[in-house]
Amino acid sequence: MSNELDELRADIRSLTEDLVRLLSKRLEVAKRIGMVKMRHGLGIVDEKAEDELRSHILSMCDALSLDRIFVNRMLNLLFAESTRVQEAMYEEMGRVEEKEERSKSGGGGDESSVGRARMRPVDIFSKARVLERMGREIIHMEIGEPRLTIPSKVRQSLIDALDKGRYHYTESKGLEELRSAIADILNVRYSASLSKDDVIITPGGRFAVYLAMLASLKPGDEVLVVEPAWPAYIDIAEFIGVKVRRLSTRLEDGWSIDIGKLKSIMNQNTRMLILNYPNNPTGKIIEKDTLDAIVDVARSKGMMILSDEVYADLAFKDFNSILQYNYDKSIMVSSFSKGPSMTGFRIGYAATTSKQIIDGMSRLQSMMLTCVAEPIQYSALAALSSMDHVRSNATIIKSRLDLICRRLMDMQLSFYRPDGAMYVFAKVDINSDMKRFVDALLEKGVAVAPGSGFGSCYDRFIRISAGVDERVLSKGLDIIGDVLNMMGRDRENE
Ligand code: PLP
Repeated sequence: MSNELDELRADIRSLTEDLVRLLSKRLEVAKRIGMVKMRHGLGIVDEKAEDELRSHILSMCDALSLDRIFVNRMLNLLFAESTRVQEAMYEEMGRVEEKEERSKSGGGGDESSVGRARMRPVDIFSKARVLERMGREIIHMEIGEPRLTIPSKVRQSLIDALDKGRYHYTESKGLEELRSAIADILNVRYSASLSKDDVIITPGGRFAVYLAMLASLKPGDEVLVVEPAWPAYIDIAEFIGVKVRRLSTRLEDGWSIDIGKLKSIMNQNTRMLILNYPNNPTGKIIEKDTLDAIVDVARSKGMMILSDEVYADLAFKDFNSILQYNYDKSIMVSSFSKGPSMTGFRIGYAATTSKQIIDGMSRLQSMMLTCVAEPIQYSALAALSSMDHVRSNATIIKSRLDLICRRLMDMQLSFYRPDGAMYVFAKVDINSDMKRFVDALLEKGVAVAPGSGFGSCYDRFIRISAGVDERVLSKGLDIIGDVLNMMGRDRENE
């Protein structure tokens, strides 16, 4: 037996060597393709070329008795690696160009330049902080923080937790009392049938999204993201080696999802669809019939739905949760950051009736951080019984959004009037490069989030956040109007 095993192992070794040699050759060719793309000013990812190759390779699977799902995952890893080497080349080229530009302009450097790549809100926030440290005053309209008061019960609950010695490890999923309270509220609000075991408490909605993706996706799987989208979905997917397919929506269509397009983008490897309503950055709430159709498609394909509902408390019209569909392959994510304005407490949760997913999330959370801090869990419990406070926060946010909308209308910018959340995503028609526009705003003391951070087709948008009070907002909007006038417009109707 040992001879036979040795021989087979030698075969495997030599085949693996062949594979690695071929991989190296493949990457060399990918670099050459990158050069050609760069010479012709083409983008790095060409999904059409990838899909043509994918369907050709998959057509070989049956004859070779290979599992299509495995081959598909392997292809995604190969595509991701080609993209990575080409991106590295583009980055290197960008650095050389930037250096040349700097030396042309006297070499002084430009602290406020917003750079070339996709800018996330947090990148602008960091730049704004640099300016603040230099003594400049910045109006922060780039960050998704309501910055409202927390309910007084929450404050008291923290003091009580400390007084009563409630500062120990808890079950990794979270305190039973808190999970039960959340399940009860969701069952009433959405006619769901959750038990406390279907809920996990996490340090913020962001971590719940991360855990949900990590627990249910494998490297090489595909995830579908509806754009414009909160940047973390793509960042997380890429971090865990999951391929992202983007379904773009348009302002002209009221940011609605086209079901035909959704079906055409999916394939058998598309394991998860990520939804986020009320949406960051557009403020859109998905229409009920569209959500019905999406759930039908997901059910028929066995695709998971990750529904990020962290802005549900800030919905200004009827809002349907994924929990209303009783779909066992869905995961709902929520947070105490937005409605109760408890961003710095870092607490959120996920709910799903899939035992496999919730157990996976719980195992990962236990491995990574044991549990959410116990006193913070008690403060979340207190927030659940402070719904009047949350409703009053929602009224304040709505009033700020109304102010932003009025002023943007005066500036004749196009946007979708938000149904919820805390942002207005406005299209800016100016002759100038948008990076220069965002730079100029920062220079005048206003930070906004550039649209490029929310997807590949939104370079001409900015996201304005209702995270500051109306007096400051108004000042910031004056500055936006001034900079727009200064830079000149190129309106479509002119
Ligand atoms: N999901 C969306 C769409 C968000 O915009 C945010 C925060 O901005 C989060 C999740 C995460 O929020 P937190 O981690 O503070 O709960």
